[in-house]
Amino acid sequence: MIPILDSKRQYAAIGNEVEKAVCEVLRSGSYILGPNAKALEKELAEFLGVNYTVGLNSGTDALHLALRALDIGAGDEVITTAFTFVATTEAIGIVGAKPVFVDINPDTFNIDPDKIEAAITPKTKAIIPVHLYGQPCEMDKIMDIAKRHNLRVIEDCCQAIGATYKGQMVGSFGDFGCLSFYPTKNLGGMGDGGLIMTNSEKLRDRVVALRNHGGAVRYYHDEIGVNSRLDEIQAAILRVKLPHVKEWNEKRRAHAAYYNKLFADCKDVVTPVEADNTYCVYHQYTVKIPNRDEVHKMLQERGIGAMLYYPVPLHLQKVHAYLGVGEGSLPYTEEDTKCVISLPMFPELTEEEQRTVASTLIDCIAKSKSAAAV
Ligand SMILES: *Cc1c(COP(=O)(O)O)cnc(C)c1O
Repeated sequence: MIPILDSKRQYAAIGNEVEKAVCEVLRSGSYILGPNAKALEKELAEFLGVNYTVGLNSGTDALHLALRALDIGAGDEVITTAFTFVATTEAIGIVGAKPVFVDINPDTFNIDPDKIEAAITPKTKAIIPVHLYGQPCEMDKIMDIAKRHNLRVIEDCCQAIGATYKGQMVGSFGDFGCLSFYPTKNLGGMGDGGLIMTNSEKLRDRVVALRNHGGAVRYYHDEIGVNSRLDEIQAAILRVKLPHVKEWNEKRRAHAAYYNKLFADCKDVVTPVEADNTYCVYHQYTVKIPNRDEVHKMLQERGIGAMLYYPVPLHLQKVHAYLGVGEGSLPYTEEDTKCVISLPMFPELTEEEQRTVASTLIDCIAKSKSAAAV
């Protein structure tokens, strides 16, 4: 069995250090908004090249509170992609705004900046580009459109910590960048967690208040907030892991390059395109293949933990039926959700495992094609 992700291998390498850090928190008696959360915010701001970060409960909350801090709500429209995890649009829905979907560039799976302007209306307040699978969006084009139309930009970096566009970290272009520390992410905790990054002190202060019941001063409340603080145990664990993220991302990139090589002679496997001027961190290694659903099943039977991210685009999900964006509205998004498959990808993956994954995939595709031919 080769899983899509094997967290135990990472734990084997850093477990001792993690356990020491967690025990220190347990003994300290300080469990919420203590020294670790504060130190992590500082260390991550340095790593990400931004002025401020604020630790939160989840990536979903990061998106939600970023929208709240920008006063986006009922009656407003937010432009984004339908080729993402539902949390992106859930956050838009939570604040009462409406998601407006723009099709993707089928090479990168990311929002196509050249189609954004056609979707702008007088109600448009913001754009949420998603750096899907760790591949940076074309941020110069997106920021240019935002400037010309006076729109806010919230980058969904939940899959892309450490990725850069033209040498600059994703999440540092827009008003906000949002991270998730869900255990499977490139920097994952051992529970839920998230964070916003921003260069604006004012926006930072607003999120600091919103995450803690809407007030900067304890027991004085200025607005309706939420309880969304990153706890000390998660912060301590993340502080142990952060120094490894660069090296882990490098390993993911090396695995992606090796997969590309293994599939180089197989025309049926369309390997990911790394766009110019980007440093992609391969949260997922996602290829396009024929007979996807059948091949996916065959891979599972043969012990390859391939996954479908995401089998149904967001505009065709029941939760968004009210938008009336039907089938055929986003051709590239719809086409790609039918043929993408993500292969095992994590820093500790071995070359031997990669060879097994590649040869099994190639074999399953061939079998599915000959079965279809009879
Ligand atoms: C994981 C993820 C989120 C949500 O993060 P949580 O921490 O699980 O709430 C949002 N957007 C994208 C693209 C994600 O991958």
